[in-house]
Amino acid sequence: MNDQSVSTAPSKAPVYFVSLGCPKNLVDSQVMLGMLTKDRYTITQSPEEAEVIIVNTCSFIEASKEESIETILEMSDFKETAKCKVLVASGCLPQRYHKQLEAEMPEVDLFIGTGQYHRITELLDAYGKARELGAPLPKRSYIDQPAFIHTERDPRMHTGPLHSAFLKLSEGCNRRCAFCIIPTLRGDVRSRTVESLVTEAKGLAAQGVRELNLVAQDLTHYGIDFKYKAPEAGAMDARLETLLGELCKIDGIEWIRLHYVYPDQFSDELIEVMAREPKIVKYLDMPIQHTSDRVLRSMNRRLTKARLFGLIEKLRAKIPGLVFRTSVIVGFPGETEEDFEELCRDIERLALDHVGVFRFSKEEGTKAGEMGDQIHAATKRRRSKKLTEILQRQSSTRNEKYVGQKVAILLEGSSEETELLLQGRMPTQAAEIDGRVLINDVSYLGFEAEGLRPGDFIEVEIVEAMPHDLVGKALRILSKGLTTAEAAAGLRTEIPVERPDARDQAAREALIPRLAPVALTHSMTH
Ligand code: SF4
Repeated sequence: MNDQSVSTAPSKAPVYFVSLGCPKNLVDSQVMLGMLTKDRYTITQSPEEAEVIIVNTCSFIEASKEESIETILEMSDFKETAKCKVLVASGCLPQRYHKQLEAEMPEVDLFIGTGQYHRITELLDAYGKARELGAPLPKRSYIDQPAFIHTERDPRMHTGPLHSAFLKLSEGCNRRCAFCIIPTLRGDVRSRTVESLVTEAKGLAAQGVRELNLVAQDLTHYGIDFKYKAPEAGAMDARLETLLGELCKIDGIEWIRLHYVYPDQFSDELIEVMAREPKIVKYLDMPIQHTSDRVLRSMNRRLTKARLFGLIEKLRAKIPGLVFRTSVIVGFPGETEEDFEELCRDIERLALDHVGVFRFSKEEGTKAGEMGDQIHAATKRRRSKKLTEILQRQSSTRNEKYVGQKVAILLEGSSEETELLLQGRMPTQAAEIDGRVLINDVSYLGFEAEGLRPGDFIEVEIVEAMPHDLVGKALRILSKGLTTAEAAAGLRTEIPVERPDARDQAAREALIPRLAPVALTHSMTH
């Protein structure tokens, strides 16, 4: 990883890459991109220029399957109209449906499942060689039980904004929620060691990352495959609490955010760490899915309403100001009007800050997909609409409490709507989903306003609340982020990192528009 020697071997084929789905899939895409560039494939931002096109797919629910298939078909046009010689579909869609896809999508040359994506360069090389020699092409599908998870030794191209990155703690899930296909697609839990995660996080910090978003199918199961013990003598115990303590010591990392925390095994120690460590943002992404005990049982959620309410109460008492994001499913098989009304009442009572409402999606291969008593689509739509209206009423007043407050925000750059405004996020706003702080006045900063850049922390006074976003005026710069050149040189720390050469850096920046807008939209699970 740290070999800085410059290869003089010729570059291989240009690759165009599309990443779909959740942040965990994005991390897999970044690892594939890292492997491709390390093995001298060039990354292009133009599908017209590409000889290889890779679509890393999602197949979690019906909508994501449709998006994946449409994208593959769209990309297959470049085999007819441009230079593309090899079209690859990787990730969850082939993992789930490779037999049907082989029969129905002749335009795809290689299907690579979630357990084989780390073989991307080897498989492309073999395919290219066979074509060159006119030899029989190797088999088309590479699918098996997923067991791989990347480590700090695997190259990873950080494609998001410089100041924010995902850190994948583990892959797979040992739970068996009735509606969820993830264990079939991603296998059982396999965790990375604390040491591996800390090394990767230090490397990211050296490249300018200031916000670490911790992801896994379920963070509370991190280390369960090691029985939460050290995997080898002398190593640290693989416990979330231990890991958080170590991550908090890293220079440059200022915000650590926990995504996907299953509520049934939330330890008191974890609550204490969250309350104690200032770098852990007071934000929790904890999907609850329902509140009716009858539905929770049927979902196999191993949780009761009493325990859920007790946990939320305890968290609020121990961590003042804690902001919750959650998701709920309406229209689960057998959900009665009474169950649904109970959910609406409870959601109003709990007054959680951000709630995603998902209509149940009947997935083959899941227990819930085979249940009788499926709910009619119109009923699901009605229930979803009603709950969403309740939530909209709550959120239009929630933001008002911020008016007049002075808050630290992480600057993201110009607003997506207009270059006349800047935008950033408070610690209680996750990227893409929880709203933003728009800055309409930087006059207090004087000449320093000229040097503002993404990754700076600034103090802002909130002057206006909208239902989703806030508006504020900048008061002072709290600390500066790295420039692109500093980040490329890994200047944050003395930790050796894989330093991208200029070509990699250009490729990384070219990919941002295609890869960065990955919203955390798939939290129907967990
Ligand atoms: S919903 Fe989450 S916790 Fe449940 S099986 Fe799926 S990934 Fe695991």
